[in-house]
Amino acid sequence: MSEAEATPKTGKRVLLANPRGYCAGVDRAVQTVEEALKLYGAPIYVRKQIVHNKHVVQTLEAQGAIFVEENEEVPEGATVIFSAHGVAPEVHEQARARSLKAIDATCPLVTKVHHEARRFAADDYDILLIGHEGHEEVIGTAGEAPAHIQLVDGPEDVENVTVRDPEKVVWLSQTTLSVDETLETVARLKKRLPLLQSPPSDDICYATSNRQHVVKEIAAECDVVIVVGSRNSSNSVRLVEVALDAGARAGHLVDFAHEIEDAWLTGADTVGVTSGASVPDELVQQVLAHLAERGFADVQEITTADERLTFSLPQELKRDMKAAAAAARG
Ligand code: SF4
Repeated sequence: MSEAEATPKTGKRVLLANPRGYCAGVDRAVQTVEEALKLYGAPIYVRKQIVHNKHVVQTLEAQGAIFVEENEEVPEGATVIFSAHGVAPEVHEQARARSLKAIDATCPLVTKVHHEARRFAADDYDILLIGHEGHEEVIGTAGEAPAHIQLVDGPEDVENVTVRDPEKVVWLSQTTLSVDETLETVARLKKRLPLLQSPPSDDICYATSNRQHVVKEIAAECDVVIVVGSRNSSNSVRLVEVALDAGARAGHLVDFAHEIEDAWLTGADTVGVTSGASVPDELVQQVLAHLAERGFADVQEITTADERLTFSLPQELKRDMKAAAAAARG
């Protein structure tokens, strides 16, 4: 049977976004836990969800990772990994006080924002941190310079901003925001503070921007866009919003294929599919299989960027891996 015969023409199709799924920071964080488990053995403690994805967390738990909310839940002297979202300096201090062996899996692009915060605080700037209140990354970044940083949670929050010196103000941002909404927030801030400085380079990371960009490209053609990702994943939630803003008739966030409701597909011809930066591609493949069973077997991948960035594992882990390899060689 030819391929054309194997896939009957139904007029139904899937537009599959590329780039989607794992970014370099998530890949590194997940590998950090896996390598630590191999090297030190279970259990390995992880402060907060290593990345915001249910499936990833459950898979690592099955391998022997124990997820905790705070350092005080980790037995003294044990190994703890800090998540990709970053931590405030006081979290490192707490770990030292409990003699924990800390491995920091903070994404280097989040660390870059921490450096910016420290640098502008040292120059006595007021720092306007655009981000979502309560998000772990924002808590970590704000903890670098609490006396200098105030949170701006979206365009509506701009009117609440007060600064000491309007000539010495800079904005920074969470890495996983909506690009368009952040531009709007900055535009409003600049109306109030014309001398507001911008970060030295974009804080919204390449992975967030690329995933939003490709979704914008496909959204207008889609009757529904399905984003694979967890509810506490900021960049995944943003993808649904971006899809709707860019013209998708409907948008839904699912952790797993079985959460897709048949009613979402009723009357649909084109379904867009993408995934957040913390989502392994096997979950997307399961969504594609689920859609194929419902007549959406024609999958067209739309590519708008080629991502090749990778990050090396945290220094402290690499050092121990090297030592273990040397010991094994005798
Ligand atoms: S989404 Fe961006 S900042 Fe967050 S872990 Fe991935 S690369 Fe790093």
